[in-house]
Amino acid sequence: MNFHLAGRMSVILMSTRRGAPYADQVKDSGRTLIYEGHDVPQSKHDLDPKTIDQPEIYPSGRPTQNGLFFEAAVRVARGGHAPELVKVYEKIHNGVWVFDGIFELVDAWKESANGRMVFKFKLHLAENSPAGEYVSNDELPHNRLIPSTVKLEVWKRDKGKCVLCGSRENLHFDHIIPFSLGGSSLLEKNIQLLCAKHNLQKHDKIT
Ligand SMILES: [Zn+2]
Repeated sequence: MNFHLAGRMSVILMSTRRGAPYADQVKDSGRTLIYEGHDVPQSKHDLDPKTIDQPEIYPSGRPTQNGLFFEAAVRVARGGHAPELVKVYEKIHNGVWVFDGIFELVDAWKESANGRMVFKFKLHLAENSPAGEYVSNDELPHNRLIPSTVKLEVWKRDKGKCVLCGSRENLHFDHIIPFSLGGSSLLEKNIQLLCAKHNLQKHDKIT
């Protein structure tokens, strides 16, 4: 997680795959994310980081990334502040990260997990997010969510590039026949990779 990365939007990387290091959750058809804070770095401790409270401040007193996100989220939850905008990237395969959309950081809390304290951050999909589609592990038969296995096959087939212009930036998984018109999320042949620009152009035409 990177608060105000390069002075602009914040960025988080998430993974909901089995065996992922953090207990990130996707809810509400991808509109709500519950993102777990970061552990202390392994190198600085002899103890397993998973047994240590997630850090809010450095020894110097400066806030960690957990601390920065927590402060911003609590400010919003109390009211009167606009939420931070956060770009969310999801890991679908080793070395393959996919842009999931722009989210608003709306709440945060600390909770006990296996005898230690972890941070939880709640994010909602922003109204006008150019998001494509979302991953879920439950493969319901009629679902607009594209399973990770299908995403990975599409990624390989389209060689990690927009099928229209070859861009490798901000790629989206696009339903060729929109889900709202009966297009399947479960068939690779109905899913293609598009860059953000071509994804938006297509949606402008349909709606
Ligand atoms: Zn393109």
